[in-house]
Amino acid sequence: MTAAAQLNAFLDTLRQSLGPDILSSGRQEREEYGHHTLPGADHVPSAILFPATTAEVEAIVRHANAFRVPLFPISMGRNLGLGSRAPMRSGQVVVDLGRRMNRVVEINEELGYCVVEPGVTFNALYEALQSRGSALMMSPTAGPPDGSLLGNALDKGGGSGPAGDHFGNVCGMEVVLGNGDTIRTGDGGLDMSSHPNWHVTKYSFGPALDGLFTQSNYGIVTRVGIWLNQRPSAIRPFFFTFPDDDDLQEIIELIRAMKKKTLVPTLIRATNDLYLLSSQERHPRSGAPTVAPLSLAERRDLQRRYGVGSWTVSGALYGGSDEALKPGIDMLRAHFEASGKARYIPFEDAQAMPHLHAAINSNSGRPADGELGMLKWRPGGGAIWLTPGAPMDGLMVNAFQAQCRKIALDNGLDYMASFVCGPRFARSVHAIIYDRDKAEEAARADRCYRAMCEAFRERGIFVGRAPTQYQAFHQGQRTPQVVNACAAIKQALDPNGIIAPGRYGIE
Ligand SMILES: Cc1cc2nc3c(=O)[nH]c(=O)nc-3n(C[C@H](O)[C@H](O)[C@H](O)COP(=O)(O)OP(=O)(O)OC[C@H]3O[C@@H](n4cnc5c(N)ncnc54)[C@H](O)[C@@H]3O)c2cc1C
Repeated sequence: MTAAAQLNAFLDTLRQSLGPDILSSGRQEREEYGHHTLPGADHVPSAILFPATTAEVEAIVRHANAFRVPLFPISMGRNLGLGSRAPMRSGQVVVDLGRRMNRVVEINEELGYCVVEPGVTFNALYEALQSRGSALMMSPTAGPPDGSLLGNALDKGGGSGPAGDHFGNVCGMEVVLGNGDTIRTGDGGLDMSSHPNWHVTKYSFGPALDGLFTQSNYGIVTRVGIWLNQRPSAIRPFFFTFPDDDDLQEIIELIRAMKKKTLVPTLIRATNDLYLLSSQERHPRSGAPTVAPLSLAERRDLQRRYGVGSWTVSGALYGGSDEALKPGIDMLRAHFEASGKARYIPFEDAQAMPHLHAAINSNSGRPADGELGMLKWRPGGGAIWLTPGAPMDGLMVNAFQAQCRKIALDNGLDYMASFVCGPRFARSVHAIIYDRDKAEEAARADRCYRAMCEAFRERGIFVGRAPTQYQAFHQGQRTPQVVNACAAIKQALDPNGIIAPGRYGIE
């Protein structure tokens, strides 16, 4: 049978066994699913499937094996800047779990966790917690509120608050493997109908399997447990702004010293001017045929208008009351202002500054779309995320930003970066925003991404999360032994290569 005949036979079988609502193969919908924000052509799927239960996912995977049809699972598919909901390659069949598998299965108030299906969005969990008057708090991202908790965690996404490490707070999964078997990880693997430990401990018997299903293509995850913290009575977001680009060196040292004391429960973010302000503005010369990045004078003008400098530091304190948090704010002010460069932005002022709302909302556990405006900085909707990290070493992190800034400017693009900092490690989020409708500008964005990656790689630094278009390139940067190990696991769990061939460079 030809590939086209196999695909048709697969879709006919699904229609007959699971009903006509299981799929869409209309051209317009396929094209919408194939659209993404990265350089290069869209990846149009040959069909989209909408399973409603784990049993239906299992049936889809078994039939896909029989007809050798490659699948591409998504949850809500809001992976903007990283591939959106387009499959790895045109022709793969998207399995959209989000549309019909969207139940909050459990909220366990006492033990502090929830169990969710792939279609539960940050907004949906927030509303579920609100409507039951829950004392629990979730960790949203600064990205789309209609993104999914499950898909974001599987792609090792990050958010705010003490539970900002999203995969780190996943405990217990249900997964349909590429060979069609359904497994429960951790204590869920006990052959019983009830599993009281499944979502409360990661230290079950045997290897910890959850990590296998992050940034990989070994299975389709149909349910996860996610730990939630108690919502504090008072939350006080804080902001400091620093004037110059090279202040990042001192900022990183100051944040490291503060985070090591464990007095600030949130990650602390250092965000540059254009990352912060692009959500409020358009590039001033957007309409022109070719557009140069903003000059320093233009950036200074923008900074003045918005009351920030080259870097803005943000985080939040949690406590029993606003009064109880005041000494903490004084302590932070003494710490950062001792640099002689930091300017404190009082919370009352920050509330009136729309460009700071994304940080206020996310650190308060409220999903919001404040940052999404940056996608309109340039027309054409092009966006690539680059996410390497670095040790919390001011000299090193500042050297990275200086080198990447030069690469962006050399490629005629604005430099937009944010560093999300813990006590040891800073994850950088570089946003390459470009006009995707202009082939020449898309080519520059592509060159910029690759040159920045190379600059990091030369210093032994790897990316964290990668856009689909670049995953094979990054896998090629690893040692053959690691690549072989990934391929061997693929062969064991998905011998016919059904799930997302090529995802994260694993065939
Ligand atoms: C302005 C802006 C700000 C952003 N800020 C953040 C941020 O602060 N933090 C952050 O993490 N991200 C951020 N993002 C990136 C991205 O938009 C979010 O991470 C978003 O939540 C990802 O989409 P999703 O949750 O719907 O996941 P999906 O797109 O559904 O999933 C992500 C990937 O995981 C795989 N996958 C999904 N579901 C399954 C499954 N059930 N089984 C197997 N594999 C699966 C798929 O390959 C998919 O491509 C931002 C984006 C923008 C544009």
